[in-house]
Amino acid sequence: MSQTFAPLAPGSVIGVLGGGQLGRMLALAAARLGFDVVVLTPETDTPASRVAWRTIVADYTDPSALAELAELAAVVTYEFENVPVAAVEALIAHGGDVAPGALALATAQDRVKEKSFFRASGVPTVDFAAVDSVADIVEGLSRLGAPALLKTRREGYDGKGQTWVADAADAEAAFARIGSKPAILEARAAFRRELSVIAARGRDGVVAAYPLSENHHRDGVLRTSRAPAQASHTTRAEALRIAERTLERLDYVGVAGIELFEGEDGRLLVNEFAPRVHNSGHWTLDACQVDQFEQHVRAVAGWPLGPTDMLATAEMENLLGDAALDWAALAADPSARLWLYGKRDVAPGRKMGHLTRLGSPMRRDPEIA
Ligand code: AMP
Repeated sequence: MSQTFAPLAPGSVIGVLGGGQLGRMLALAAARLGFDVVVLTPETDTPASRVAWRTIVADYTDPSALAELAELAAVVTYEFENVPVAAVEALIAHGGDVAPGALALATAQDRVKEKSFFRASGVPTVDFAAVDSVADIVEGLSRLGAPALLKTRREGYDGKGQTWVADAADAEAAFARIGSKPAILEARAAFRRELSVIAARGRDGVVAAYPLSENHHRDGVLRTSRAPAQASHTTRAEALRIAERTLERLDYVGVAGIELFEGEDGRLLVNEFAPRVHNSGHWTLDACQVDQFEQHVRAVAGWPLGPTDMLATAEMENLLGDAALDWAALAADPSARLWLYGKRDVAPGRKMGHLTRLGSPMRRDPEIA
């Protein structure tokens, strides 16, 4: 694919599967480079569709909607990882081009497949066991130790679909707590902090990574990201190696977010990766020469990747639920760069927007390696 893809000219159409805030910010970035965006989403009136050129409202697997999208768009991308792989395969069958491809999507959708992929790629993760029954949990605990974290194999996000298993006596109840679904049991990672690396791979195979981000979660949901994370040269080099290895092995095109645990000794373990732009990279919008959304558009459009240098240190804070109702005060705060997603209804914990505060100007390129 890399050798044959001619760069898309401005005026070309980029398709996006999904209508949330990531699609919205992708559409804004695409428009800035002269592209038109068509969104396919099962919902009406989404954050992305209100800034896109066109929206097709249909199920992701609706055959005529996919045929229409493949016809309209020179390339199709996706903004969340639970898009059915069948939708991507149908687009390809219609002669469409999809980036990132089906392999990245299928790998990210199944936690056992994902961790097995990382292991096979020489990328360290926590020890784990595949779980289909209570007996698998009991056996897994004897190898991994207790407590251990039980997560549904598919469709978990923001800490949902996971529960700690205290000991073998808790195995049955724990399996019930996650709905008795196929799962993964993970050894507890002893980490001192959570980091992420946002990296892009172009059609030509070039990889560009942003400086590391340090992330803080509450109740399983990302609250703040700070960049650049202060980290040793070795840690930064290892994060870059992980990003390069991951993207190359998936023949990836686009931006990905890779979540990392940093141990007390500075060693990194991969927690998971998202085959899309990532919440922990939103600070790039205000702090970088080329932000993650433009970078993704550049990659899928076959354009050269842009520089990932930071212009200033940054802290991003998610505005969850009612926090976004403070928009007037935030708009009056000269240190806050405000991004609102245009969601009609506020709900507790819902990601309504984010803000970025910039710190000291960066004097030199803090490459992660
Ligand atoms: P995940 O849905 O896999 O991103 O997990 C959500 C959060 O749970 C992570 O951001 C970590 O804070 C925590 N977590 C996930 N996996 C582990 C693990 N194996 N050991 C300890 N904490 C974990």
